[in-house]
Amino acid sequence: MKAVVFADTGRVEVAQVSDPSLLDPTDALVRVHRAAICGTDLHTIGHPDGMSRGAVLGHEFAGTILEVGTAVRTFTPGDRVSGADFTACGHCWWCRSGNHWECGERQFFGTGAAFGPALDGAQAEIVRVPHADVVLHPIADGVSYDSALFFGDILATGYAAVQRCQISPGDTVAVIGGGPVGQMASLAAQACSAGPVVLVEPVENRRTIAHEHGALVAAPDDARRLVDAVTDGRGADVVIEAVGGPRGLDTAFGLVRRRGTVVSVGVHQQPTWPLPVAKAFAEELTLRFAIGNAIRDRDQLSGLVTAGAIDPTIIVDKRVGLDDAPAAYEAMAQRRTLKAVIEMP
Ligand SMILES: [Zn+2]
Ligand SMILES: [Zn+2]
Repeated sequence: MKAVVFADTGRVEVAQVSDPSLLDPTDALVRVHRAAICGTDLHTIGHPDGMSRGAVLGHEFAGTILEVGTAVRTFTPGDRVSGADFTACGHCWWCRSGNHWECGERQFFGTGAAFGPALDGAQAEIVRVPHADVVLHPIADGVSYDSALFFGDILATGYAAVQRCQISPGDTVAVIGGGPVGQMASLAAQACSAGPVVLVEPVENRRTIAHEHGALVAAPDDARRLVDAVTDGRGADVVIEAVGGPRGLDTAFGLVRRRGTVVSVGVHQQPTWPLPVAKAFAEELTLRFAIGNAIRDRDQLSGLVTAGAIDPTIIVDKRVGLDDAPAAYEAMAQRRTLKAVIEMP
């Protein structure tokens, strides 16, 4: 089969690789119809951690069941499914409590050994899915592959951030960063009865997308003024930091009100960051972190999409066939494209 594979640091290519096969009775094989390229893929190829040359990339996918192992109960060939971006066993203590990310059997599709033992990804004609009953989700009638594609990572991640905020109806929510996850957080906050959502983003076309879909928008320099204008100068009730790194956290702490909450969902690589602890104490601030969990949240996400409350496809601004995936990687790396989708028959 054809697949997008890791070629060298910073470079992918489309190659012919062997078809995956069922390795465990709980595996399924999925014929992939849609796979998306993610910022995590760009990071993976830029800083490969246990990623071998020729390994298949990609963790955001939707398709149809091709074949199931003897222990798979939920699916039969031909079923429409979306995948979570990581695997979990479904029956350990963590999984039973809805914290699948902590599962000891976690593998993350197509990211080398960064988040568990390496597992080939889904930017391919076929993907092998371990623990298929847990990792896959049936796509509801009326939900397109295009929408279901985003349940696995970015929509689940934006939604997890919003859940972690414990928004009260009418709360002013500031979202730092208008990348795919920030955009999803903006949509999810609006769907979860937030008041004004202020999305802070330096790139103009990303601000435009957010503005067209219900958010107030500001460039970073103008963010505090706008937040003050909608909160009588108090600051945002909740700030979702969807950039990662110290700068995103600093910006978030500059916008949150006294007794407010900062939720960081951006990816952090730096081991430490100087927490403004005197301010955090004096203003009784809350700082939390969030990681998406499609396995836990996709029923709600599917409901929100079916009800028309969220349309995750608004961020797609490039569609390519598998052969043109390397060019789409480049367009995303250069920020010419917000979100690229690979379409396969
Ligand atoms: Zn992703
Ligand atoms: Zn588990």
